[in-house]
Amino acid sequence: MSRKNRIFASAMEKDNESKMGIGGLLRRLLPFVLPYRWLLVATLVLTFAGSLMAQVNAVVLDRAVDRINALLHLEGGFQWDEAARILVVISVVLLGKEVLAALITFGQRIFGEKIRINVSRDLSLRIVDRILQFRMAFFSTDGNEPGKLQTRIDRGIMSLSNTVKNFFIDILPLFTSAVLALVLMYAANVYVGLVATAIIPIYFWITAVQGRRMKGWRHRVFGTHQQLSHGILNIIESMGVIKSFNRERVEADKQAALQEQSTDQQMQTRRISFLYEGLKTFVEQIGTVLIIILTAYLVLIDYPGMSIGKIMYHVLLFSNVSAPIRQLHRIYDDLNDALVYAEGFFGILDAEEEVEKSGQWTVENGKRVQGRFELKNVEFTYPSGTHAIRDLTMTIEPGKTTALVGLSGAGKSTIVNLLDKFYSPDSGSITLDGVPLEDWDTEVLREQIGLVLQKNHIFSGTIEENIRYGRPDATREEVLEAACKAYIYDQVVALPDGFNSNALQLSGGQQQRIAIARMFLKDPPIIFLDEPTASLDAIATEQIKNSIDAIKQGRTVIVISHNIGQIIDSDRLYVLDTGHCVQRGTPTDVYRQGGLYKEIFDASARSMNVDKIADTLT
Ligand code: ADP
Ligand code: MG
Repeated sequence: MSRKNRIFASAMEKDNESKMGIGGLLRRLLPFVLPYRWLLVATLVLTFAGSLMAQVNAVVLDRAVDRINALLHLEGGFQWDEAARILVVISVVLLGKEVLAALITFGQRIFGEKIRINVSRDLSLRIVDRILQFRMAFFSTDGNEPGKLQTRIDRGIMSLSNTVKNFFIDILPLFTSAVLALVLMYAANVYVGLVATAIIPIYFWITAVQGRRMKGWRHRVFGTHQQLSHGILNIIESMGVIKSFNRERVEADKQAALQEQSTDQQMQTRRISFLYEGLKTFVEQIGTVLIIILTAYLVLIDYPGMSIGKIMYHVLLFSNVSAPIRQLHRIYDDLNDALVYAEGFFGILDAEEEVEKSGQWTVENGKRVQGRFELKNVEFTYPSGTHAIRDLTMTIEPGKTTALVGLSGAGKSTIVNLLDKFYSPDSGSITLDGVPLEDWDTEVLREQIGLVLQKNHIFSGTIEENIRYGRPDATREEVLEAACKAYIYDQVVALPDGFNSNALQLSGGQQQRIAIARMFLKDPPIIFLDEPTASLDAIATEQIKNSIDAIKQGRTVIVISHNIGQIIDSDRLYVLDTGHCVQRGTPTDVYRQGGLYKEIFDASARSMNVDKIADTLT
């Protein structure tokens, strides 16, 4: 599973060209376009009308040239009124056509754009829906870092909706017009038609060669781009550290190296594409010259149906044939981009195995869980490969407070992650009230658990909104009460905007208490506290301890803390060392056993300078 993740993530950085073909791409896009089928039909109708308009110039010129020619060789001599009539007709037809064509193009573009914008919105909504369903492991997999994920999604949506636009606004009208022009050429003269057709495979061939030479470059450019934007995000996030270590230069150099690589790659791709573009323009000019020579020759030998007007006619029609083909490389490029990005994008949509699994087990209405967690021989490895939990067997007694003790990195937080079903163990079993966690309805399970972490996320919004996050339907009184219990009420009402202040402006300790208020409002039977007071001052720590003591009654509580004062209050204690449980029992028993806990305890007491504290207190 985790191996598969890594393969999926790194696929984006590999050099191999995408496996998804153009057909596959369009098939994947179809469900997103289908809801707009009437817009689509309207676009197609307008497209066809527009293609007809595109041929008018050729027809008018053909007629006009022949008429004027006839007029010049008239036996009765040149007639001004006839000439004027011709000019008026030409002007009216051409101007009328331009007005119509402008209207049609406008409608066609607006409709096409409407489809593109709607498809782009639908793609965004789908991906957000999907990401919210993913299990936590997805986000801690290499290659799924926020910056990279964001690039993959942004690029995917942009290039997929561009494909839609390309298809309906650019390619389709041009190709319809090209086909129509070819048909008209054949209808007028088969030989000219054949010459025009003969040029087409040459274009395609050049485009294909170009595509082959560009192969791999696109992936490389994309990979560098991902790294660049991830790098910039990283710099912004770590600004404080960078500045305090005076590492601005180093970070700038790192970016410069990447930028240099990116510049090289971009120049390489441009060089290749300009070369082939030039080649194609050259071939097109040769085509035009061939058409002129052939038509002129046919006129000279008096070939039936050929006239001077037909020279103009064919040259103009041929430019309609070659126009879309000239665009071919751009479309081909865009499509190839889309293929690469689409793979990353649909890869996310398709990642079935990443979706959080939920069981059926729920609690009866109005009833609460007891809160007995039993872990048996649990093994767990993070997607990154860290073997965080080893052969862990333990019981969390309902209604009691259990403390998890251990050095940093011992696996304490990981246990909380497992119990909250953020991750599932590699092997072994975890049950809640006798029911395996995987059988629990995930939503119901999390409804039962209140989680307070060392660093709690505060969403942009007001303080009230942030507390209410615990229970959106809570009354204002309940929100205020929760704030009181979390000892944040007084500080909040002292702010100019009170509970309507921006929560992100609060200090770390204050944000922590907002998170605790959030949990009070949720009022769950099970509570996990993962170093909840690590970022609080002494007074706040004591206040929080009091309110936690109050809420502990009749609930199952797991507390992780480096604060000995909070640990010795627990009913039961587990000492962890590199993912393994090394000691267990009541705090006093475990202390008497000696070992790691005694070491931690004594060190903690020494670091607090307990003797002097005692002296001072007396
Ligand atoms: P602590 O006891 O300090 O809470 P953790 O449970 O957070 O320890 O971490 C246990 C081990 O798992 C550590 O080696 C840590 O580096 C690793 N780890 C923690 N979270 C992740 C993660 N999201 N991805 C990969 N490794 C992780
Ligand atoms: Mg931790």
